[in-house]
Amino acid sequence: AKELGKNNYQLFTPELEEAGAGLLELENSLHKALAREEFELQYQPIIHAETGMISGMEALLRWRHPVRGLISPEKFIPIAEETGLIVPIGEWALREACKQTKAWQEAGLPSLAVSVNLSPRQIKKHNFVETVTRVLDDTGLDAAYLYLEITENVAITGEDNVDSKIKSLCSMGIRFSIDDFGTGYTAINYLKRFPVNTLKIDRSFVADIEENHDQRGILKAIIALAHSLKIEIVAEGVETDDQCDFLRQHGCTKLQGYLFSKPLSTQHFEVILRENPQF
Ligand code: C2E
Ligand code: CA
Ligand code: CA
Ligand code: CA
Repeated sequence: AKELGKNNYQLFTPELEEAGAGLLELENSLHKALAREEFELQYQPIIHAETGMISGMEALLRWRHPVRGLISPEKFIPIAEETGLIVPIGEWALREACKQTKAWQEAGLPSLAVSVNLSPRQIKKHNFVETVTRVLDDTGLDAAYLYLEITENVAITGEDNVDSKIKSLCSMGIRFSIDDFGTGYTAINYLKRFPVNTLKIDRSFVADIEENHDQRGILKAIIALAHSLKIEIVAEGVETDDQCDFLRQHGCTKLQGYLFSKPLSTQHFEVILRENPQF
């Protein structure tokens, strides 16, 4: 696998599938990865649009494979979803993110909230609320510092008591973000009815700001809608100054993207936290 590149993400799924690896083998290697603690989190700063200060961070999963190097979640999360292993892997990520956030607070660094991505399968588990409660108890993180990110389609299913679970977690002080907003089917009604704290605008909308007049209109409308419902807005995938200026001008409250920082290792993020820069 050496010739695949010096570092970063190498193909995982297609490669193994070509080699005849079936789902069962892939499941096995994910299982081992969990047991061998090969997963890690990177953290990407979320920036306060008005002040340029860091307002939070998103925890993003990585697999540090002993041979293949760092593997992107896009390569293994689909398999983890299919096999159900996303449940223990996701719980590991939640626990790790809470533990790290608490450790940074204890070290006297700025107290930031951490956003953790949830799979639909996690939230549909009957004991999901208990799991989250236990993780907060064990790690000692205050619920006010945890955001859970769910995609639109999960939010609106109305099945498996998802609604009531979201409500109980909200009443504990946990906040919910709707991820990849604009790519699914959120009913505006749902936003009104539900304790959604934040909409994360999918980066496909942000990417189109410069060329696409219609997209700009849609983006303005989404921001206005969020304002009237008193919901915060995070724009994802902000890569250019022009995108940043447009989003700031139209009242987007938070920004996330390579323009400010890529997802960083724990060590690197800690350096940034100590410097507490203004972007
Ligand atoms: P997401 O939740 O939408 O996360 C944002 C993705 O956009 C991340 O990719 C991030 O690195 C990338 N990104 C951030 N800023 C920019 C930018 O300016 N330009 C571009 N082109 N990309 C940017 P990543 O880390 O590869 O994660 C991909 C997806 O994997 C995530 O999308 C999320 O759906 C999933 N994922 C990551 N960690 C977890 C996890 O712990 N649990 C679950 N269930 N899913 C996860
Ligand atoms: Ca996310
Ligand atoms: Ca997203
Ligand atoms: Ca996404």
